[in-house]
Amino acid sequence: MRKPIIAGNWKMNKTLSEAMSFVEEVKNSVPASDKVDAAVCASALFLAPMVEAVKGTDLKIGSQNVSDKDSGAYTGEISPVALKDLNVTYAIIGHSERREYYSETDEFINSKTKKTFEHGLTPILCCGETLEEREGGKFEEVIRTQLTADLAGLTEDQVSNLVIAYEPIWAIGTGKSATEKDAQESCKFVRDVVASLYNENVAEAVRVQYGGSVKPENIKEYMAQPDIDGALVGGASLEPASFLALLEAV
Ligand code: PEP
Repeated sequence: MRKPIIAGNWKMNKTLSEAMSFVEEVKNSVPASDKVDAAVCASALFLAPMVEAVKGTDLKIGSQNVSDKDSGAYTGEISPVALKDLNVTYAIIGHSERREYYSETDEFINSKTKKTFEHGLTPILCCGETLEEREGGKFEEVIRTQLTADLAGLTEDQVSNLVIAYEPIWAIGTGKSATEKDAQESCKFVRDVVASLYNENVAEAVRVQYGGSVKPENIKEYMAQPDIDGALVGGASLEPASFLALLEAV
């Protein structure tokens, strides 16, 4: 059985003191990690004190980005070596906002994913289609193209330990969530692509999250679907009560 994983993506929100008061408020109330993996992916500015603050609890910390290089002359980048040294657990890779606003390509995303595994972090690899692509009947082609390139060269073992966040771009931050039926079909398609690129065992092991306007009021319906193993949550992960409510609904 795949363990559910709920990850908050705070994006470029919160100050250090806001981040720390969130962590203090939720860290001892998250459900046990044998039931659900709970994480918040915060600005790189807060990762060190956040990791320190959650030590010994079931809350894990993730980065929202990671470099595909270890170190060197890459101004502004976030080293996977430094993330591992801090005991950061996850790194979001290929979020649609990074694909769109920072021109991240599938090749670059693939390189980051490999590097992240090399240093023992767990990637949360995002994929998803625009509204235009969905309405134009291109959903399958877009997802297959993204995943084929993003996963190229990864081993069966790595993909089995990967988290894939399926996030339809039209549902991110818009309040327009996919129906649970559409989200299930899309997450199943993601799993089918993994099966075709690897095999059934890998496809059964990989965890697939749905992301796009998930909130405490709708998470139960998503989590009841057989191919949805969790959620990547933006807006509804920012408030402690809402984040805890998401976890309690799993
Ligand atoms: C996200 O940032 O990945 C996301 C899904 O955001 P929201 O939950 O706000 O739609």
